Amino acid sequence: MSSHPPLPFIDLQAQQARLREGIEAAVARVLAHGRYILGPEVTELEQRLAAFTGAPHVVTCGNGTDALVLVLMAAGIGPGDAVFVPAFTFAATAEAVALVGATPWLVDVMPDSFNINPDAVADAVAACRAEAILRPRGIIAVDLFGQPADYVRLVPLAREEGLILIADAAQSLGAAQDGHRVGTLADYTTTSFFPAKPLGCYGDGGAVLLADAEQAALLRSLRVHGQGDHKYDTRRVGLNSRLDTLQAAILLVKLEAFSGELQARDRIAARYAQGLSGLYALPTLSPGNSSSWAQYTIQLETGTRERIVSHCREAGVPTAIYYPVPLHRSTAYAACPWSRQGLPVAEALSEHVLSVPLFPDLDSERQDRIIAVLAQARKQQGSTKVH
Ligand SMILES: *Cc1c(COP(=O)(O)O)cnc(C)c1O
Repeated sequence: MSSHPPLPFIDLQAQQARLREGIEAAVARVLAHGRYILGPEVTELEQRLAAFTGAPHVVTCGNGTDALVLVLMAAGIGPGDAVFVPAFTFAATAEAVALVGATPWLVDVMPDSFNINPDAVADAVAACRAEAILRPRGIIAVDLFGQPADYVRLVPLAREEGLILIADAAQSLGAAQDGHRVGTLADYTTTSFFPAKPLGCYGDGGAVLLADAEQAALLRSLRVHGQGDHKYDTRRVGLNSRLDTLQAAILLVKLEAFSGELQARDRIAARYAQGLSGLYALPTLSPGNSSSWAQYTIQLETGTRERIVSHCREAGVPTAIYYPVPLHRSTAYAACPWSRQGLPVAEALSEHVLSVPLFPDLDSERQDRIIAVLAQARKQQGSTKVH
C-alpha cells in the first residue's frame, strides 16, 4: 500500500545520530576514570536536574519503579496503609505500593486530561476512613502522557487529609503547571530514564526530586542498602538501586539537548492538533499546563479502533495503545479496593485511546504522511458506517 519505509513509533536512532559525538566522548571519560558506581557524573547530573527543574534535591536511582519504592520506604508507608493511585496508568505505579506491603486503592481519572480525578480521590479517602481497615497515607498522581495532574487541587486535598503527595512523573519531566516545573509540584516527584521516556538513557534509570533535605539524605541511604556513615554501618533495610555512572554520563549529554527537544515535541503536537482537528477527539491541556508530550493520544468511538489501527499498519504508520487494560481489570490488581460505583472513565479510555508517533526527530514530511494516513482512515471508516 505504501512505497515508503515503515516509520518507527519512536525514533531513538535519529536522536543518537544527532548526539553521537558527545555521547561517545562522555562514555569514554567514564571508561577512563573507572568510577562505575556513583561516580562524578551521577553527582553532576543530580545538580543539573535540580537546576533544570527547580527542585532543591535530586536523588538518582536504578529506575522509575524503584524511585517510587524508595519514596514509599522513606515515608514509612507499609502494611495496613492505603495509597490512592489512578486506575489508568502503567502497572509500576500500583506495583511500587504493593512492593512495600501497602495497598494500592484504585481511583478513576478525568476524561479530558486522563489524570487522577481529585473528587474521586476525596471519595476514596472517605470510603477508606469509613471502612476503618486501612490507614489512608498517600496519593500517587501520575502525569499521564506528559501532562501534569491537577496539583492545584491535589496539594490542598493531601494537606487536609494528612496524606503524602507523590507525583509519578515518569512521563512528564520537562512539563510545568502555572509556571512551576515538574519536580516541584508535589512533596516527592519520581521520574524514569527508561529509553522511551522524554528524557531517556540507554538502559534503566530513575530519580526522586524533592525539597526536604532530611528526606533526600534518607533516600541516599536507602538506595545503598540503608548505609550510614560507612559501608558496614547498616542503619536500615534499603535497596541496591543506583543510577549507573555510564547512564548518568549519557543523560548529561541528552539533558543539554532536552529543552530543544521539548520545543520540538510542542511543535509536533501543535501540527497534529491542526492536521487532525475535526477528524478525531484530540488531547487537551488543562489551563496552566504544559506537556512534555511523552505520547500524543487521540480517542476513537467504541468499536472503531481496530479498523483505524489496521489501516495505519497497512500504510506503514505504527500506533500504540496505552493502556488497553485499566489496573482494576488486570489479573494482578483486580483484587485491590476501588469504588463500588466502578471506574467508568478508566474503562472507557482503555477502549478509546490510540497513541500516534511523536518524538523530537519526527520531521514535517513524515508527520504529514501520518496525518494523511489518519485522515484517510477516518474517511474509510465513515464510508463503511462503523459506529
Ligand atoms: C515508565 C513508567 C514507570 C516506571 O519506570 P521504570 O523506569 O520503567 O521502572 C512508572 N510510572 C509510569 C507512569 C511510567 O510510565
